[in-house]
Amino acid sequence: MAIRSIHITGSPVLHTRANEVDVFDRQLSKLVRDMYQTMDEAPGVGLAAPQIGVGLRVFVYDYEDADGNPVRGELINPQLEVGPISEEPASTETEVEGCLSVPGERFALKRADWVRVTGVDLKKRPVTIEATGWLARIFQHEFDHLEGTLYVDRLAEPYATQAAKVISARGWGQAGVSWLPGVDNLED
Ligand code: ZN
Repeated sequence: MAIRSIHITGSPVLHTRANEVDVFDRQLSKLVRDMYQTMDEAPGVGLAAPQIGVGLRVFVYDYEDADGNPVRGELINPQLEVGPISEEPASTETEVEGCLSVPGERFALKRADWVRVTGVDLKKRPVTIEATGWLARIFQHEFDHLEGTLYVDRLAEPYATQAAKVISARGWGQAGVSWLPGVDNLED
């Protein structure tokens, strides 16, 4: 296993739709193992393959459901059904999101409160999860990564402008910038 460098916004792979997984082989198993290890070291509650520079439709997540039960797994070739998104402004207390590819920054973003994600796991077994609240947010965030969308692309004003300024000020928004969990002190 290996901890992998996490690409920062501006890296083209983060802004490109990822490809379907066709081959379930040892290389894919290693990728998923590395993703778990990298997510845990960061630490984060989710990580998508494009964030470590691999343009495949895979993400991992690690969170607790509404009853406090741990929920951890990988989703491969996922599809996402999303409930309605309120038109109310996002709360700066309870709806603040972050991303390991925009490390150390957080902005309020409205998300749907309900999703259903379907896909397969590493053994090609079907997976279906209905989620609400933060877990629903995680699935929306990670699925977006596979579409080449970052949460900062979805921000309303004034947060969109704030995020653009921060990204520019930190020298991000260009190819070739990354950080290594456990080495660089950029935890989200
Ligand atoms: Zn992210």
